[in-house]
Amino acid sequence: MPLLEYRCKDCGHLTEVLTGSGANEKPACEECGGKDTEKVFSSFSARVAPSAAASRCESCPNDTCPMR
Ligand SMILES: [Zn+2]
Repeated sequence: MPLLEYRCKDCGHLTEVLTGSGANEKPACEECGGKDTEKVFSSFSARVAPSAAASRCESCPNDTCPMR
């Protein structure tokens, strides 16, 4: 299940959110409760090694690929 991270613009705390329900709403900061958070791509997309990224099926939209 994909894990999204939202960074609080107030305190910089990273709030991790499991996606899957299709919710696009930004979560409130779990540290200070602030609602000014922005999505960051760190865990999976951005920092993933090239070899790992290449192993993913490109014809499937997201994490539904049965070839994984
Ligand atoms: Zn915060």
